[in-house]
Amino acid sequence: MSDKNFETEAIRNQMERSQFQEHSTPLYLTSSFVFEDAEEMRAAFSEENERNIYSRFSNPNTTEFTDKVVQMEGAEAGYAFATGMAAVFSTFAALLNSGDHIVSARSVFGSTHTLFTKYFPKWQIETSYFDINNPDEIESLIRPSTKILYAESPTNPGVDIIDLELLGNIAIKHNLLLVIDNCFATPYIQQPIKFGADLVIHSATKLMDGQGRVLGGVVVGKAELVREIYLFARNTGPALSPFNAWVLSKSLETLAVRVEKHCENALKVAEFLESHDKIEKVKYPFLISHPQYEIAKKQMKLGGNIIAVEVKGGLEAGRNFLNALKMCSLSANLGDTRTIVTHPASTTHSKLSSEEQLAAGITPGLVRISVGLEHVEDIIQDIDAALIS
Ligand SMILES: *Cc1c(COP(=O)(O)O)cnc(C)c1O
Repeated sequence: MSDKNFETEAIRNQMERSQFQEHSTPLYLTSSFVFEDAEEMRAAFSEENERNIYSRFSNPNTTEFTDKVVQMEGAEAGYAFATGMAAVFSTFAALLNSGDHIVSARSVFGSTHTLFTKYFPKWQIETSYFDINNPDEIESLIRPSTKILYAESPTNPGVDIIDLELLGNIAIKHNLLLVIDNCFATPYIQQPIKFGADLVIHSATKLMDGQGRVLGGVVVGKAELVREIYLFARNTGPALSPFNAWVLSKSLETLAVRVEKHCENALKVAEFLESHDKIEKVKYPFLISHPQYEIAKKQMKLGGNIIAVEVKGGLEAGRNFLNALKMCSLSANLGDTRTIVTHPASTTHSKLSSEEQLAAGITPGLVRISVGLEHVEDIIQDIDAALIS
């Protein structure tokens, strides 16, 4: 562990230079690595040293990216994946056995919900959901077979906040593994390990890349747990490609400045929307009107870049608003330099029944705004014009 600040580590925590003394990290586009002799190869396979063998196991670029996230989250170890969902799936698949039970917040990323409800039951792994507005019910859902307590905060797409310290205490009391998807916050804003998380998952596709170019995922946390996840991944093959790792590692160098600006813009857009007469409701963690404002202030450095808004007039008004936008993109991504607006009920969360949608806080008129890095006056102008039209 170094005593340098977040920004400095993000930039200076690099792999060793090659014989060319390059300043910027090179791309190691190679599927395998060579050995001098049989003995060296034997030692690498028996894990007596940390040599790279094959890029499904490790590669200098994926290691550099992972090491940066490990450092940022205050973790012991990590492993990088091709996508955020590969990271989510591999974590559960590596750590759970048939008959085990998960307790999760009801409001989770759409594909994570599909894993819990469609795929894990095939292996007799059951999930019980708790309502994030009623954390008192968490303990009543825990069974002798419960192994993992799981949550995202802020949640997608409702931007609800879950008290990480509370989850950490419950996990310790009941001897559960606490796994947090920290994608919406990034380690610059919030470090769940400080509150007792055993593992932290990211979709690096979002704010970590931040420029809408590559997919990626990463899991960091306790070394013994990461080792199990690594062995599962090493044998099943969801590894991050060296090229994407190289892109993501570069992106992390600017994470702090980008996230600062994203959040500054988002707060201004949220304040503007709150005073707009075409808007029913705005949810943004750092607005005093947010139901969990106090918790957000306790565990987050900034409010993030996602705003949930309810346009007056429900589904029809929400869709009209999307159609009237001229600059903001309609796209499935988030955390991009470009402001992106989506309608979760008909897109990312359309696989949920309407009851499940409502239970997860997804009303028909809910619109999710991922505030980008354009000048904030231009973002507000585009949104305002679309609301008035
Ligand atoms: C996007 C996202 C994921 C999945 O990540 P991919 O890189 O798209 O596979 C998981 N969790 C959250 C909260 C996300 O926003």
